[in-house]
Amino acid sequence: MFFNNHTHIDSYSVQHDKELSKPIISLDISLPKEQFHILNNINKYSLYTIGIHPWNCHVVNIDSFFSFIKEHAQSIIGIGECGLDRYAKADMSAQETIFIKHAELSETFKKPLIIHCVKAFNELLRIHKDFSPKMPWIVHGFNRNPEIAELLLNRNMILSIGVVLLDNRQSIVDMMNMIPDKQLVFETDISTVSISEIYKAASKAKQMTLEDLTFSIEHTIHSIYGHI
Ligand SMILES: [Zn+2]
Repeated sequence: MFFNNHTHIDSYSVQHDKELSKPIISLDISLPKEQFHILNNINKYSLYTIGIHPWNCHVVNIDSFFSFIKEHAQSIIGIGECGLDRYAKADMSAQETIFIKHAELSETFKKPLIIHCVKAFNELLRIHKDFSPKMPWIVHGFNRNPEIAELLLNRNMILSIGVVLLDNRQSIVDMMNMIPDKQLVFETDISTVSISEIYKAASKAKQMTLEDLTFSIEHTIHSIYGHI
């Protein structure tokens, strides 16, 4: 089974390897209300996280959405995606306040936090240090340099790697080999590429058999989310 640590409804719906994969689908405040009805119909193949993407931090009904997350906390396996993005409309201090609220929910409900971070890694590291969370923080779509990777890994954060693996760049291969197995997961995010393609590229980069890699990631996913 290929775990897809982070995807969205639209991109997941057109993927080709659904029978081989277990997706964790991120729902955001910007989705039409009707989409959230899927939370009333959860089963072992429906794994969801809910959060406010930093791109949507400027919308007005933030507080009511936080109440909505609390109401549905038992139907989700994680909080997010949420985070900090230098290019988002909301200013950084507003984004930080909203991000910290997500981190608090993550601790209260004992759900891991899925993080979107663009050009704000110093802020993220500072908040992680001040907040010192007990729950895992997963930085999704990580594609930055090895120095930043090392700083995040030293704080026990988990890196979720996606389509950047398909670029086949030496720097990505090097990065893959510095991430400990227990801090590594994979995702497709908004891409329509299948998660099996990401696993195959990773198995090549890490010079590991697909079987061994799949086993290792499954173990990591269970240590993050419990037995999902
Ligand atoms: Zn995403």
